[in-house]
Amino acid sequence: MMVKNSSKVLNEEHWIVQPQFTNLNLRAAFSLKSISVEGLEGRRSFAKKIGFDPTGLVIPKQTHSTNVNFVSSFNPIENCDGVFTNEKNIICSIQVADCMPIFFAHRSENVFGLVHAGWRGLVYGVLENTSQLIFENGYKLYDFEVFIGPSIQKCCFEIKDDIVGNFQKECVFPAQKNGSYKVDLQNQAFREMRHMGFRENQIKISNECTFCSQEKYHSFRRDGKNSGRMIGLIGSV
Ligand SMILES: [Zn+2]
Repeated sequence: MMVKNSSKVLNEEHWIVQPQFTNLNLRAAFSLKSISVEGLEGRRSFAKKIGFDPTGLVIPKQTHSTNVNFVSSFNPIENCDGVFTNEKNIICSIQVADCMPIFFAHRSENVFGLVHAGWRGLVYGVLENTSQLIFENGYKLYDFEVFIGPSIQKCCFEIKDDIVGNFQKECVFPAQKNGSYKVDLQNQAFREMRHMGFRENQIKISNECTFCSQEKYHSFRRDGKNSGRMIGLIGSV
């Protein structure tokens, strides 16, 4: 059974969604629209507000790819949509506006990561690459807790029949317009991760839709190319 968000998972204030993990040495945060996180300075000042040393920020150059990296330095990473580390002084970050920010926190060791998964990343294998990366670095998927943060949900994520074949049939619903469909991306991500070996009761999903919640979140589909972005962060404290 998929566990949808709730107050247990989210400690919502006016400017932040804060996933809670068993490993209390890890801290994670997701910015709301009400706080400006633009550019490098915005991301640094957000990190600082959360209690991180902003010099430790790792900033991937996101391209909707399926590339996920395990990093041990702060150098910027080209063509990358997910970062993991086991370094105490590194803070993983990503930006999103509708795509899923997926947080990974090891239950007992200092290992964590953040993945940017839009529909392309999802269907082309960003989660397969994530689980491969975790495995190659000597860790077990079932040791990780996962949180899928606020993102566009099945109420608003509409596609045409040209790409519908990419999605699991259990996650697709007919939309009102002919030849259009609604897709539950969070459920597809959940099903994939469960299949790969993550524990289903350790995968939590925010039920907030970025497109619907205009007051709280930026949405690329709603606001177009001038849309702002939200920032996800995870690191050690
Ligand atoms: Zn919606």
